[in-house]
Amino acid sequence: MSRIVIVGGSLGGLRATEALLAKGWEGGIVVIGAERHPPYTRPPLSKGLLAAAPDLAAVELRRRPDTGAVDWRFGVSAVHADLEARRLTLSDGSVIAYDGIVAATGVRPRRLPEHLTDNGFTLRTLDDCTALRPLLNQGTRLAIVGAGFIGCEIAATASGLGCSVDVIALDRTPMVLPLSEVVGTAIRRRHEARGIRFHLGRSVQAVDSSPSGHVLSLDDGSRVECDVFVEAIGSQPCVEWLEGNGLDLANGVECDNSMRMGGRSGAVAVGDVARFPNPLFDDVPRRVEHWQMATETAARAAATLLADLSGTPTEPKPFRPLPWFWSDQFEMKLQSFGSPALGEHIEVLEGDLAGEAAIGYYRGKQLVGVVLLGMPKAAPRLRREILDSLTLEPA
Ligand SMILES: Cc1cc2nc3c(=O)[nH]c(=O)nc-3n(C[C@H](O)[C@H](O)[C@H](O)COP(=O)(O)OP(=O)(O)OC[C@H]3O[C@@H](n4cnc5c(N)ncnc54)[C@H](O)[C@@H]3O)c2cc1C
Repeated sequence: MSRIVIVGGSLGGLRATEALLAKGWEGGIVVIGAERHPPYTRPPLSKGLLAAAPDLAAVELRRRPDTGAVDWRFGVSAVHADLEARRLTLSDGSVIAYDGIVAATGVRPRRLPEHLTDNGFTLRTLDDCTALRPLLNQGTRLAIVGAGFIGCEIAATASGLGCSVDVIALDRTPMVLPLSEVVGTAIRRRHEARGIRFHLGRSVQAVDSSPSGHVLSLDDGSRVECDVFVEAIGSQPCVEWLEGNGLDLANGVECDNSMRMGGRSGAVAVGDVARFPNPLFDDVPRRVEHWQMATETAARAAATLLADLSGTPTEPKPFRPLPWFWSDQFEMKLQSFGSPALGEHIEVLEGDLAGEAAIGYYRGKQLVGVVLLGMPKAAPRLRREILDSLTLEPA
């Protein structure tokens, strides 16, 4: 029987499995997942789940009944794929021969230099959340290194739990990429109004730990004392297992617009690990770490893989998914459509930045992204507007 192996047993792996089955794959599917948990959803890890008690049942992704026939192997990782020979070696020493392969290995947190990380926490997995949650209580002094989305979400959640929060970041504005200085500053003010302190344009030079806590020494000579510190300085794609195949693995695995890794037949990638060109914007391959993108890339990749394995033509229509993500910080619901990071200038389209607002991001005259602070009812209309703009040729 023909076999497809899916490496990565979380959102992208599950969505790829579902898409293959929905498109009529009748061969075997083996899913290899490094985590010991079945597929679960990560966004609540820095939001509701961190505020409550971490619990797999609250985040486990419901699997369709037909995925019951799939061979799910959790707690084991892929260590090497030989794409030419179509063989995958696992951490338990076993080797799986396959016909088609899906890379769905996502990313892991980037860490501070080794001498600083001994006592730092990260937040990517349910186990990370389970380890961190009991330490965040009324009065806990929490330092967060990194002021991106995850850092700011942790700050907001921890502040809601009564923690005293410091955020340290090299950037001069939180979430500056993709939101811009103006919007990042407006959000920073909301955090500061809740008592969160920012140390921006600063790096951590040393960490001194003792039974009474940690002292983080910053590059301007200042010090931040804390009971717990979290590193939230970005991510690193999990691609080591693909080395030795001549693929471009700089910042994720480079794919073509059909999601084939390096254009290779029978080998596709999905989700956070995949770097692919989206002609909605241009022909530059980019990774998109959005929950929704795992689903969209999985559908496209599954169609490509099945076409390759059956020797039929690939879907001729270009793959042009509109990126979308959300973030919850305090009572603020942020939604983003398109690719604000590509914007060269911004314009407040509706509302004002101190309250609810819709912000447009323009490349030349073309609207390439829209961010909503609140204003959920405007979302469908502005989503339509940006799609209309992106399907026009740039001016
Ligand atoms: C705290 C947090 C909050 C988030 N909030 C939002 C949000 O509000 N909105 C939004 O749009 N997105 C959010 N995201 C991003 C979203 O969760 C990701 O885009 C999504 O999880 C990507 O799915 P994935 O399957 O590609 O990768 P992952 O979910 O990372 O899954 C990859 C899996 O592969 C496994 N793996 C890695 N290497 C190997 C190997 N060699 N062998 C076998 N298995 C391996 C990993 O252990 C992991 O289980 C958030 C992410 C985090 C961490």
